[in-house]
Amino acid sequence: MITLNEVIARLPDGKAKHAVRSFNLMPHQNRRAASVKELAISLGLAVERKALPRGLAGRLVPDAFSESGYLIEVNEKDNVRRQRFTVLHEIGHFILHSTSSDPFAPVSNRARGVDEYGIIPFYPDDGREREADECASAILFDHGALAAAESLFNGDLEKISKHFGVSVEVVKIGLRQFGLKK
Ligand SMILES: [Zn+2]
Repeated sequence: MITLNEVIARLPDGKAKHAVRSFNLMPHQNRRAASVKELAISLGLAVERKALPRGLAGRLVPDAFSESGYLIEVNEKDNVRRQRFTVLHEIGHFILHSTSSDPFAPVSNRARGVDEYGIIPFYPDDGREREADECASAILFDHGALAAAESLFNGDLEKISKHFGVSVEVVKIGLRQFGLKK
């Protein structure tokens, strides 16, 4: 299980660390879930909704115009909660798996820079998909964020899901990961 401290330790600068910490600390502000797009932009990533092939939730692709050299593409046909988790999952790939020093390195060195997270297998099944999910989960739920929401909403899964702006399924996985549910 990847922890939020491990995620933060991998970030290159104070601005990025602050953005991730703030997102975790304040998952819900001004009556809505905190913006995953703003988080991505703080990390130098561009985000675009696109018509992606069915079954492909999103992908991390090289982009010469973004600060980090990467763009997150999100399937515009997915519902908003799914799209939000996709952005966090791709942020996970960016932090854990991208060659951020050189996004335009030869394709074989960066696993083609494309994500599976769905039906179409681009990454080999070597644990990177699980790691990206764990990174997303850590950013959302670690440092007591899920425990606090679980307590605040008395275990009401729909309310917890709305608070974080992700699906009930993602919350259920988080509750197991953080030992809040058997
Ligand atoms: Zn992935």
